Amino acid sequence: MFKKLLNILFPIECIGCGRNNVLLCPDCFNFIKINYPDYFSTEHIKQVHISASFHQKLLQKIIHLYKYSYIEKLSNQLSELMINYYSQIENKIDQPIIIPVPLHQKRLLVRCFNQSELIAQNFCRQFKYQLKNDLIIRIKHTEQQAKLDKKGRIENIKGAFKILDQNFVKDKNFIIIDDLYTTGSTVAGIAKLLKDNGASQIWCLVIAKN
Ligand SMILES: [Zn+2]
Repeated sequence: MFKKLLNILFPIECIGCGRNNVLLCPDCFNFIKINYPDYFSTEHIKQVHISASFHQKLLQKIIHLYKYSYIEKLSNQLSELMINYYSQIENKIDQPIIIPVPLHQKRLLVRCFNQSELIAQNFCRQFKYQLKNDLIIRIKHTEQQAKLDKKGRIENIKGAFKILDQNFVKDKNFIIIDDLYTTGSTVAGIAKLLKDNGASQIWCLVIAKN
């Protein structure tokens, strides 16, 4: 009853073409192109992989709605893009542990879900990788990174994370998963923490880079 009422008040329409009763129709979804496998390196991250180009207006819209309007269901399509991208990589990282970028408890209360974790869950299911969402926690309630410039972001992220089980990290490989790569300061903070605790190889995988 309540759901019916919601549908009358806020009818569901495809984000791309406006077609009724679907959040993102297959035609629009198939229109989104994924990247050819490629990567760049940072100080602590051996390979940073970007699944798709942020220049695609529809993808921008989807990520924006997912991140800021909390449309949880879009995690399915976004993780599918990531899975399709990663499948193309021939030399994958060996037995990685998957770390979704954690949210602070306070932000989690507002959002109700961790956007990186939902994507990481689907990703792990597909590749039979181990998801570790309780290894690193966010101890500092940081300003939203999007509101800061590069220097501000780096300053903002210092001391933001903590490892709960230090012994777990040694000699293991990791993939850090996030939705959007901006300056990379958030994942760099996590990567440094993992490296400081003896991690072997670290990759980062995101949907897009803005
Ligand atoms: Zn459509």
